[in-house]
Amino acid sequence: MPRYFIWTIGCQMNKAESQRIAGYLDSAGYQTATSFSNADLVMLNTCVVRQNAENKVVGTLGLLKGLKNKHPNLQILVTGCLVNSNTEELKRLFPHVDLLFKPGDYNELIAWGQKQGIPIDQRRLSYRRNDSGMAPSPCAFIPIVQGCDNFCSYCIVPYRRGREVSRPVGEIVCEVEELARRGIKEVTLLGQNVDSYGHDLPGHPDLADLLNELNNIDNLARIRFLTNHPKDINLKLIDTMASLDKVCEHLELPVQSGDDDILKAMRRGYTLERYRELVDTIHSKIPQISLSTDIIVGFPGETGEQFEHSLSLVQEMRFDVVHVAAYSPRPATIAWREYQDNIPSEIKKERVNKIEELQAAIASEINSQLHSKEMEVLVEGRKKGKWFGRTRSNKLVFFEDAKDWLGQLVRVQIEKTSPWSLRGEVKKY
Ligand code: SAM
Ligand code: SF4
Repeated sequence: MPRYFIWTIGCQMNKAESQRIAGYLDSAGYQTATSFSNADLVMLNTCVVRQNAENKVVGTLGLLKGLKNKHPNLQILVTGCLVNSNTEELKRLFPHVDLLFKPGDYNELIAWGQKQGIPIDQRRLSYRRNDSGMAPSPCAFIPIVQGCDNFCSYCIVPYRRGREVSRPVGEIVCEVEELARRGIKEVTLLGQNVDSYGHDLPGHPDLADLLNELNNIDNLARIRFLTNHPKDINLKLIDTMASLDKVCEHLELPVQSGDDDILKAMRRGYTLERYRELVDTIHSKIPQISLSTDIIVGFPGETGEQFEHSLSLVQEMRFDVVHVAAYSPRPATIAWREYQDNIPSEIKKERVNKIEELQAAIASEINSQLHSKEMEVLVEGRKKGKWFGRTRSNKLVFFEDAKDWLGQLVRVQIEKTSPWSLRGEVKKY
């Protein structure tokens, strides 16, 4: 049996696409390999959102060149955001790659497979895997809208993933029904901006309409979605979230900066006043909401004072999770063309550290309030002898128990908390 190994970095969308590609390869009779070195086919699912991610991809491609020299029959496939429209240039740089295809362009993969005599079944779905590809997971990621129309000034995604294309409601509902029949309990709907889902479909259904349909699916226990955009999220969605029992109390609402002038230069399309009003509304309608955000520090021209505004926003908002990144200039983006990357990397690092330290203290306080509470956890797998899963609010919970709890919704009493995860004891009723 030929073996495949999929290497994935980057966002959840990449992880979802890798799961789907794994399903295709399973359907063609491939088995999973444990590393590059024992695979006959290697797939790199790449990210170039920041320079360090791109460096990792280029380094891995270099490693594979050596492997291909030793094993000329090794097939190397590359997808994800590295693949731009100029595939000729990429082919010239990486001649050892057999196929480059744009993220989500499965037709290209299937056509290539047919030429190679690899019988890929395009109806094949395979979500019952976790990240290691080994044990079944009860969670599935479902892309609902590809691409992005926003062009935030720092972001390369619209250049690599193209304009927004939504999948029809019926297609998504059928897929989730099938997954629920196979035992999937939780789905996470994915899009760079899930709030613009459906604007390009007949009748313009929106995310709230889709959630209403999915909430009716038997055996499905939880629905999540990401990422929301503060300029587009609306009251209808917030009310729908509050009213549907399967929709979890968690939102990813990236603010990116705590300074209005920087937000303008980032072309985010909202002010901090709008963001604050939005968060107030969300809290009033969904009091148990847990909020995650993304922040970029060291955007061109960000003064010490402007950075302090981001720091105070983190202090004020008390997010559950903050993903902080140092600005990385990305070729072809508006910021790359118009601004000089003039914040030294040591200052960017210092700013990242300051936000991370503050957020660790806040998350520690928030999570400590969960001590002794009983929480519902969907068990996703096992790590280092412990079961792990997530609460509806997306908190990672570990517990030890001899019984097999995989895929089950359990009640866990929290006994230990940290900024990043919780530990507890499973309740047996
Ligand atoms: N669509 C989402 C949004 O509107 O925020 C996020 C998509 S983006 C791929 C994921 C995160 O990467 C962003 O929230 C941003 O914080 C970060 N990011 C994107 N471009 C970046 C850049 N050039 N430098 C540093 N961080 C960046
Ligand atoms: Fe990038 Fe902005 Fe689109 Fe998010 S909304 S993917 S940050 S352009």
